[in-house]
Amino acid sequence: ENVESFRQLSPSEFFYRNKEIAGFSSPSRALYQTVREFVENSLDATEVHGILPNVVISISREDSSNPNYFTVSVEDNGIGIPSNIIPDAFGRILYSSKYKFRQTRGMYGLGAKMAILYGQITTGKPFEIYSSTSRSNKIFYYKLSVDIRKNEPIVFEEGAWEKKTSWHGTIAKVTIEGDWNKRTRDYISVYVKRTAIIAPYADITLIMPKFNGEQEGNGEEESEIVCYKRVTDKLPVPPKETKPHPLGIDLEMLKMSISESKNKTIKDFLMKNFQRIGEKKAEEILKIAGIDFDRNPKNLNDKEIEALYKSIKSVDFISPSPDPLSPIGEELIKIGLKQVLNPEFVDAITRKPKSYGGHPFIVEAGIAYGGKLSENLDEIARDSIKGQSGPFIALLRYANKIPLLYDEKADLIWSVVNPDDFNWKNTYKLDPSDIVVVLVHIASTKVPYKGVGKESIAQVEEIRKEVEAAVQELARRLRKYIVKKRKREEAEEKFRI
Ligand code: ADP
Ligand code: MG
Repeated sequence: ENVESFRQLSPSEFFYRNKEIAGFSSPSRALYQTVREFVENSLDATEVHGILPNVVISISREDSSNPNYFTVSVEDNGIGIPSNIIPDAFGRILYSSKYKFRQTRGMYGLGAKMAILYGQITTGKPFEIYSSTSRSNKIFYYKLSVDIRKNEPIVFEEGAWEKKTSWHGTIAKVTIEGDWNKRTRDYISVYVKRTAIIAPYADITLIMPKFNGEQEGNGEEESEIVCYKRVTDKLPVPPKETKPHPLGIDLEMLKMSISESKNKTIKDFLMKNFQRIGEKKAEEILKIAGIDFDRNPKNLNDKEIEALYKSIKSVDFISPSPDPLSPIGEELIKIGLKQVLNPEFVDAITRKPKSYGGHPFIVEAGIAYGGKLSENLDEIARDSIKGQSGPFIALLRYANKIPLLYDEKADLIWSVVNPDDFNWKNTYKLDPSDIVVVLVHIASTKVPYKGVGKESIAQVEEIRKEVEAAVQELARRLRKYIVKKRKREEAEEKFRI
């Protein structure tokens, strides 16, 4: 009696039981999240590797007896996935090519697998994928699902075709239970629209069921097609993989990298595994820790590793290198805002790299005003404006190029730009009826998200300062434009009389 039985959960089983953590909390949200995960993979597979992205997203009801079954397919022209890797990349949770020190959209080895898991538990249908790398002369096909208990792929079918063209890329296809209502449609289309704004170098097509107020779909449903055409061939500077900054690691990471190290001496280990540690710095750290320079790292005991860790945290380092970051850049932000919103005034700023706790970050911002802007606002921005008293701020938030759509009011960025705290009216001369679009992008190797939902940014003082400085600068430029315009209009008015 009174004896509990114990067993271990596999990572798949854990995420299966805690789907909300990864954004799969309801059928509607799951559909949105599925699109998001596959689109992010497609963009990572293209722009990070210098390829101008072509992405086609299609959402359809293929099974007429199950109107709540949605097939989501996303096609890209990316680098593709080597055929021997495909089963693990999509059938093994926490399997990823992105566990590196550089900025990508995905980084948890979870996204696609969560969509696949969600599909198999709600519809029982396996995941399908076609992929080819540019080096391969074949296109590979797999039909697979995740073995939840074992956390490994179950392959049902596989095949390969000779490739007659130079095509490379991936088509990923999953069928999940979803819910097609106005909210689902709005969130998915706003997600794509806001992605298009910061990726004017991408060709993105979204095909989805037309929403006509009805829930049920039938066999011959009409679709709605939205296209965002590429307007520039300029790509953002890709992220470069670098070594971590010594201040960005914790004790566990230090222990892990020591246990994996191949360096003969601890001094060598410090110099080879971290940025900003040269010979002098390594010696300084080891002296403080009381560890001999030529000790074998593998022979250090826990006490010594702790002393080493403390010593690392006590010395000064040059700030982390911004090389692993990939900001969008002022030019692309302006092009994107202009193209999608058609405003009369647009400007953008990319701030210099800064850091918090050993993690580099860059804040960028854009501003748009007037012209056709108010007609082109998306549904989520419209909703946000409804709760404001004016001047109205339509905020577009991004973290590592991912649009953040949920939890706006809880976000650090909103706490800076909201009209109660940022004096748009008096300091920056906006009329109470004016609408301004403010775009803020935070790029970092570690985005400080508030919760597990990864939808809002936590209050980090260093980041807050940068957001404030960026938006203030743009607001000043807008004020200059508005004041000039008003003067000109007044002059014209007098001239007329
Ligand atoms: P994450 O994106 O966090 O790494 P995912 O489960 O979304 O995790 O994807 C797993 C891996 O599969 C990625 O790291 C990537 O290497 C590969 N992958 C997924 N989708 C694509 C794609 N469209 N093109 C190329 N590689 C992909
Ligand atoms: Mg991913």
